[in-house]
Amino acid sequence: MTPVVIESAAAMRLYIDERRRAEPECQVGFVPTMGALHRGHARLIEQARKACRTVVVSIFVNPLQFDRPDDLDRYPRTLETDLDLCAGLGVDTVFAPSAAEMYPRPPACVVDVHRLADHLCGRFRPGHFGGMATVVLKLFQIVRPDQAYFGEKDAQQLAIIRRLVADLNVPVEIVPVPTVRDEDGLALSSRNRRLSPEEREQATSLYRALGEARRQILAGARDPGEVRRHATAVIPAHAGIKLEYLAIVDPEELQPVEQVAGPVLVAGALWVGSTRLIDNLLCSPPP
Ligand code: AMP
Repeated sequence: MTPVVIESAAAMRLYIDERRRAEPECQVGFVPTMGALHRGHARLIEQARKACRTVVVSIFVNPLQFDRPDDLDRYPRTLETDLDLCAGLGVDTVFAPSAAEMYPRPPACVVDVHRLADHLCGRFRPGHFGGMATVVLKLFQIVRPDQAYFGEKDAQQLAIIRRLVADLNVPVEIVPVPTVRDEDGLALSSRNRRLSPEEREQATSLYRALGEARRQILAGARDPGEVRRHATAVIPAHAGIKLEYLAIVDPEELQPVEQVAGPVLVAGALWVGSTRLIDNLLCSPPP
């Protein structure tokens, strides 16, 4: 069944009001995306479909969270095939607003993300997480879901959204979904479609580096510097590849650890040509 496509915030609110009036027990599941949907997004939608009577997917490439104009311009936009995928997964409604609909005038009030954005991607993408948190809060206000689904692939985003709803008392349950990968380990991403066949090959080195870090931690390594040294050695020295960061942080506050004494998040960002890819693994040292 083709989902209803809604472009205005007012119509989206009305749709949810009507759904809830018609069926007061109806659970609304929400999957916010930037489109160019793939199997990773599909996993989120499937989980929402299993748990909720009404499933809303938003497709919005949010200008506020792009720190580089060229990245915003080049971000893939594939609405027609996205709608086909949503239809196949039984999505009820796709909310696909324009930038003018979401930001009729430059916002004067935005979400400010403190400590949690200091490291990992936040260090290299100024304003990104504030822009992301602002649009997610706006979307929550419009859709008012019972549950919202987020991928663990974007671990810093997920940690920040969890704090957003806790700190600002947003009445929504955040449901994490494990990262969906290709067979060789590469995390699925809308940005992967920009990779040439050679770059696609090189891109797997990020997952392999994270895997090496995990191997070190499981083998008892405690010194983050030592773990990083082994992990970064996996990234091939090639002109087109540049490791932006590989960091070992605590999974909630996202601050670098001095020693691996409990579960840690090992996260990295890798430039492959002009494409920036991110990935992470949660690692627990042996007791
Ligand atoms: P995006 O469209 O990239 O903003 O992603 C929308 C949602 O899909 C976010 O919650 C992402 O974390 C999630 N997502 C993207 N790629 C994957 C993946 N490979 N596995 C699981 N979730 C993903």
